[in-house]
Amino acid sequence: MPFLSESLDRIKPSPTVAVTQLAAELKAQGRDVIGLGAGEPDFDTPENIKDAAIAAIHAGKTKYTAPDGIIELKQAICDKFARENGLVYTPDQVSVSTGGKQVLFNALLATLNPGEEVIIPAPYWVSYPDIVRLGGGDPIVVEGERQMGYKITPEALEAAITPKTKWFIFNSPSNPTGAGYTEQELKALTDVLMRHPHVWVMSDDMYEHLAYDGFTFVTPAQVEPGLYDRTLTVNGVSKAYAMTGWRIGYAAGPKHLIAAMRKLQGQSTTNPSSISQWAAVEALNGPQDFLAERAEAFLRRRNLVVAGLNACPGITCATPEGAFYVYPSIADCMGTVSAQGREIKTDEDFCTALLEEEGVAVVFGAAFGLSPNFRVSYATSDAALTEACVRIKRFCEGLKHVD
Ligand code: GLU
Repeated sequence: MPFLSESLDRIKPSPTVAVTQLAAELKAQGRDVIGLGAGEPDFDTPENIKDAAIAAIHAGKTKYTAPDGIIELKQAICDKFARENGLVYTPDQVSVSTGGKQVLFNALLATLNPGEEVIIPAPYWVSYPDIVRLGGGDPIVVEGERQMGYKITPEALEAAITPKTKWFIFNSPSNPTGAGYTEQELKALTDVLMRHPHVWVMSDDMYEHLAYDGFTFVTPAQVEPGLYDRTLTVNGVSKAYAMTGWRIGYAAGPKHLIAAMRKLQGQSTTNPSSISQWAAVEALNGPQDFLAERAEAFLRRRNLVVAGLNACPGITCATPEGAFYVYPSIADCMGTVSAQGREIKTDEDFCTALLEEEGVAVVFGAAFGLSPNFRVSYATSDAALTEACVRIKRFCEGLKHVD
């Protein structure tokens, strides 16, 4: 009998986590590596948030809390949804977990039965299909349109829905493309969903505050109130407040779904860190003005990277609306050999050779379900990004087509 479970066999290690680890290990060995793999802001957590955590420690707020979050944080989350998204939730409709990943785990594992389908637009965040598989469901991938910044059409969504569809996972601005759906584009999708009342909507809004050029963020339950009773609106403090290590994600939705998620969490991790929860209260209730300042820096970096990548032979890079990712196409680099003689047949070959030969760590497109591309996380310094673009250009200039 095999030692490992069949459900573990259905998944692979997270490629985003793996690239981030690899870059860190190479740096520790003294290699000159520029890490553009991790989806994590380089900014520090704001001081007022750190102070709130320190105060919580000194006040002895270091014990177990309610399994899915303290009431103060749930209320702060309700206030955030009302203030920023026009969505009315009560604290018993809110669940707080150890990062957005656990929120998705809870919701999918609590609801999926074998053979049920989850529609996932591609390119997708690497963990969506594997969490679905762990839950015994089947990911149904709908490819985005290249000329639409990899967004999906309402026709493609309609065609993917079957009687077995349980969830539609929506993510805007997107990891890995940065593409954001306008209100009109999202309404076209929610119109489709209104025709299929058995389909639930999971909206991953983690990159809400990372939007540029006047792009207005919208979320499904806001655009189509008719979906409110079957939508889980997911968010977290990691990306907006530079709090990736604190591990706080949250969601709001129908009470019976939230209760099911609480039951599951009560049998796994119980509450997320009490100290992190108090820090998240301050993040959501405290000053928000630095968000716009940081978005300015990200906008500058996005423009720097898009221009730098488009200057590389064989790379085509669109200008996305948000997040801190770009997802250039490298179709014209396939069927080449690198300066050091590596064959480039896939985007994984490209990324491996780029790391080996130029010390630039990015994540290959196949990990996100749409190739040949790669993901750049530009949440790092302008100087590192400028140098990375120089290296990527040199690498592309060294590629020779083979017949
Ligand atoms: N969400 C981030 C990323 O895509 C963090 C790593 C992960 O959990 O995937 O890079």
